Amino acid sequence: MPQQISMVKYQDVGFDSKCTYDIKPKLRKNRRIENRWGVMYQVAVEDAVFGKKYSPYMPTEPPASLSEEIMESDPLYVCKQCKDCFRFQSSFEDHNKRRSWILGLWCHNCFITVCTHVTATGSACPICIKKDSDKRSYLRIRGLTKNQKLGVIKVFYNQCQLFEHVKMHGLSTVDMGDLMLMPLPANMYENDWSPEVEINQSTMYPEGG
Ligand SMILES: [Zn+2]
Ligand SMILES: [Zn+2]
Ligand SMILES: [Zn+2]
Repeated sequence: MPQQISMVKYQDVGFDSKCTYDIKPKLRKNRRIENRWGVMYQVAVEDAVFGKKYSPYMPTEPPASLSEEIMESDPLYVCKQCKDCFRFQSSFEDHNKRRSWILGLWCHNCFITVCTHVTATGSACPICIKKDSDKRSYLRIRGLTKNQKLGVIKVFYNQCQLFEHVKMHGLSTVDMGDLMLMPLPANMYENDWSPEVEINQSTMYPEGG
C-alpha cells in the first residue's frame, strides 16, 4: 500500500491551496446490473460509495493561548482522498480505518502480473509467466468463463480506501459490475477486522465483461 500520510503546516491549509479537490473516481453504470437489480440499486450504491461529502473536516481552532505553540510546531495530517485534516496521527489513522460499509471490488488491474526481473530477452521471466498462468487456471477451475474478466477481490471499508486504490491504478471510473456492496454486520467486533482483508476469491463471482 502506498503511504497515505502527507503533512502540511497548519498555516498552509486552505481550500484554495493545499486542500483543493482533485478528481474523484466515478461510477460507471452497467446495463446488465441495471436489468437484473434495477435502477434503484445502482443509485443506492452510487450514493453510498461515491456520494459527495459536504466539506473537509477541520479541527476546531485551539484557544488563543495555545494556538501559537500549536501553529509553530504541529503539522496537520491530511487525507489525500477527501482532504479531511487531522491534528493527531491517531485521529488520522481512525479516519483511514473507519468502517462505512464492506465493499468488494473485482480488480482487473490487481490481477496483472508485473515482472520486474531482468531477463535477457527483455520480456517477462518464466517464473512470472508461470505465476500468471497459474492465476488464470485457478479462476477457470473456479468457474470463470472465457468472456468474464479476470480479477482479484479487494475489500474496502470506506470511500477513502477505495479511492486510493482506484487512483493508484490510474483509473477514473469503476464499473458497477465489479462492485459488491454489503452493509456492516451488526454483530461484528473490532477485533474481527483488519484494514485490508483479501477474501477468498470464490466468495464473489464477477460479472462477464
Ligand atoms: Zn479521507
Ligand atoms: Zn487493484
Ligand atoms: Zn519475473
